[in-house]
Amino acid sequence: MSLVIALDGPSGSGKSTVGRHLARVHGLGYLDTGAMFRAAAWYCHHRGIDLDDAAAVVDAVATLPLELDLDPDATGVVVDGVDVTAAIRTTEVTTHVSRVATNLGVRAELKASQRAIIAREGTPQGWSEGRGIVAEGRDITTVIAPDADVRILLVARAEARLARRALELHGSADDGALEATRDQIERRDADDSTVSQFLAAADGVVTLDSSHLSLAETLAAAERIVAE
Ligand code: C5P
Repeated sequence: MSLVIALDGPSGSGKSTVGRHLARVHGLGYLDTGAMFRAAAWYCHHRGIDLDDAAAVVDAVATLPLELDLDPDATGVVVDGVDVTAAIRTTEVTTHVSRVATNLGVRAELKASQRAIIAREGTPQGWSEGRGIVAEGRDITTVIAPDADVRILLVARAEARLARRALELHGSADDGALEATRDQIERRDADDSTVSQFLAAADGVVTLDSSHLSLAETLAAAERIVAE
């Protein structure tokens, strides 16, 4: 029996940490759909495509030569033979990724790939030998895998998300680090607003609010949701 876990949340909600943890605990593959949008943005930039040219961006993404590692402990991303695992996390990609992700043609292309990966992981050929997958993003519980066995929406208050991102990016959550991060997180929330319409708890989706939980408590709460 394969297990499909769908996990959504805004940036800084902790969904990557929770997603990887659940994948390890249950021996599942791990699909970071945000990495796919980031890879698409990197590829367009690499090919000199104007992100405002919606049709050209869709054409490029339709043939995106993307290889994703689904091992939760080694989530490598290769585009066109180039290892972009680190490059897709740069401020430059983070700043422009929403322009690619709000392109509906791009979403349609990546939706098909995401569904194909999730379906494949339920078969013996998959990375996880048919054990299933954790897929995380913004619209996995609602659009990509509404039939997933477990669907979780991870939320956290803006200040909690900000402090976590500051720690991640600057190694500190002091005033300077918070200010340096605030702009980025607020801008991306605004840029993602059309994507964020999917970030509402649909019927059957369990909301987990980690604002007042430690990391260990959040992971334990997510495990309980899967076990229920
Ligand atoms: O999760 P992460 O911050 O890496 O996602 C990068 C970007 O990809 C988001 O800001 C959003 O624009 C887009 N995204 C999306 N739908 C998803 C996952 C990510 O639009 N399922």
